[in-house]
Amino acid sequence: MENSPRLRDWYEKLTQQKPLVIAGPCSAETEQQLMDIATSLRKNDKVHIFRAGIWKPRTRPGGFEGVGEIGLKWLQKVKQETGMLVATEVANKQHILLAQEYGIDVFWIGARTTVNPFAVQEIAEALHGTDKIVLLKNPVNPDLSLWLGGLERLYNVGIKNLGVIHRGFSTYQKTKYRNLPEWQIPIELQARFPDLPLICDPSHITGQREMVADVAQQALNLNYDGLMIETHNCPDEAWSDAKQQITPETLNDILNQLQLRKPEAQSEEYHIELNNLRIQIDELDMKILDILGERMQIAEQIGGLKSKHNVAILQSDRWQDVLQKYIREGSRKGLTSNFMTTLFKAIHQESIEHQEKKV
Ligand code: PEP
Ligand code: MN
Repeated sequence: MENSPRLRDWYEKLTQQKPLVIAGPCSAETEQQLMDIATSLRKNDKVHIFRAGIWKPRTRPGGFEGVGEIGLKWLQKVKQETGMLVATEVANKQHILLAQEYGIDVFWIGARTTVNPFAVQEIAEALHGTDKIVLLKNPVNPDLSLWLGGLERLYNVGIKNLGVIHRGFSTYQKTKYRNLPEWQIPIELQARFPDLPLICDPSHITGQREMVADVAQQALNLNYDGLMIETHNCPDEAWSDAKQQITPETLNDILNQLQLRKPEAQSEEYHIELNNLRIQIDELDMKILDILGERMQIAEQIGGLKSKHNVAILQSDRWQDVLQKYIREGSRKGLTSNFMTTLFKAIHQESIEHQEKKV
């Protein structure tokens, strides 16, 4: 798959100005619910596409698994009565055949499906040559190649109207997010395919409505092209993902308050200052590298000492104590405990490898 300005054709036809907005409930629940939300959203000319899930992949059985085919009929009605494009999640060939029968305009592939190359391949073949818009969510696990592989499968069967949705990555750690953003992963994808529309889903990243506006703004600061935001007329009563859904009125407020950043600035003063700051950052990064190199040399000496005295390399108690100390120190410098843990786990792992060198 190659980057090409053609990847943006569908996007530019739909929206003159960033961001492209996809809004609607997590799940279609009843015909009335869908029509009410769509009617409210229709009043907002910043919303381009109406979303609703009708087949819901649930982590555990027993939850609401979607209304199924009947929901396609309701989406068709939304399209006829409001003129909005309509989108739903598809996870297999059968879903696609049905969704095509009902004239669904946009298909998205969910995070739990992107992890499975067999499923993505089946979907790609069912969509072969379609002129519909196909959006691929990131896989639940933070694996860029799996995401890229899914894109290639779609591209290789001739799907041209492609885009990606960043919905965050699941983690076992307790964090303020439902799904960790790991911004560096979509940023790397964007660096490889700058023309591929990149959409952020702050609803699934945050899992709570109070944080949706901040994450949406952060995505725009990073030059994202669009937003997918779960919107419901009575969010607290939603049958799925109740905590993260917002009302159409809140969506309107958020969209009005978002600050749009320019991709570049012309002013000389800006470039001079940016350059200065980047030089300082580069210097600091080199210092970090020097320090890490030195640290590993000391680790090797420790490895030698432990080997001489026949002592095991990993001393778990000491490691837990220092990690807690670093997390406390880090928080004084404004560094999150998540970052400190990831950083020092990586340093510790590398250190163990260096100690082993000397065994
Ligand atoms: C959704 O968009 O409702 C959904 C199920 O998303 P994800 O695949 O990101 O969990
Ligand atoms: Mn949802």
